[in-house]
Amino acid sequence: MATTASVSPAVDGDGSGPAARDFALGLDIGGTKLAAGVVDATGRVHSFALEPSRGEEGPEAVLARLFDLGTRAVAESGLAWSDIGRVGIGCGGPLDVARGVVLSPPHLPGWVDVPVTALAEQAYGRPAVLDNDGTAAAAAEHRYGAGTGTRNLVYLTISTGVGGGIVIDGRLYRGSMGNGGELGHVTTDCNGRRCHGCGRLGCLEAYVSGTSIAERAQEALAERGRDSMLAAIDEPTAADVAAAARAGDALAQEVWDGTTAALACGLTSIVNLFEPELVVLGGGVTRSGDQLLEPVRQAVGTTAMSPAGRSAGIVLSALGEQVGVVGAAAIAFEQVSSKPAA
Ligand SMILES: [Zn+2]
Repeated sequence: MATTASVSPAVDGDGSGPAARDFALGLDIGGTKLAAGVVDATGRVHSFALEPSRGEEGPEAVLARLFDLGTRAVAESGLAWSDIGRVGIGCGGPLDVARGVVLSPPHLPGWVDVPVTALAEQAYGRPAVLDNDGTAAAAAEHRYGAGTGTRNLVYLTISTGVGGGIVIDGRLYRGSMGNGGELGHVTTDCNGRRCHGCGRLGCLEAYVSGTSIAERAQEALAERGRDSMLAAIDEPTAADVAAAARAGDALAQEVWDGTTAALACGLTSIVNLFEPELVVLGGGVTRSGDQLLEPVRQAVGTTAMSPAGRSAGIVLSALGEQVGVVGAAAIAFEQVSSKPAA
């Protein structure tokens, strides 16, 4: 059954908006993992399924697995398909949000102009919507997570890459074509490291992504790493670097300090720009918890302009690894009418 998404800025409160018995299927296309889950309009997750992305297999194979994962998530939720009114999809940019097309994101090499929304509508027979994954995560934390009740919020995901999302005056900010909020590409050193995401020099992502932390550790090891405990690990990851720093390894601590300094530098600019009540940090690298948060809080609190910039809270995501599917569902509740088109 062919359907067409009915997209409007917001459907809350006009009678067709979400209620507690409204369910959406949320799909998340990450660089490392695909995720799917059934989420209701209060943000409760009724099922959650994950599998490796293997983006190099190309869009056709990956989307077939993603849609199967979604079908599995619906089966595991115990709900009937007739309960699922809409589908939301989050993916890293650049995207054409209005047409529901993935343009050519750096985390999915070879994906060029993939009409993800149309393919999802074909697969599931109900309206779907695509949005930037950082924007979707910001929506999730704002509606259901750490940022409930705030009006101005910034979300930063620190993972394979670094993404972001912005809520201004209670509404998601998307920019002119849906690609705004790329906070990972705020410059922290205009003569700095090459950014794998956008190719420029010195982006926040080029220092604090899991990929960059691992790379910087490798470089430091090659230069002067004989005494480091990381030398015994074949390809140390960001988590290995964090663990070795906690264990007192000097080289790992140096790499970690470079990470928190770059994050604090980027966040200071972001806080000065938006004066958010809250900065929410998510993504794999934030599993290090206070080891990341404490030095960053302290530095931003000292360096951001006063008064309000310095009072911005910096907290971890409340939704953890489910933030992507909850966000995709939040976008679907915001933007898609649950009524399938004739
Ligand atoms: Zn960049």
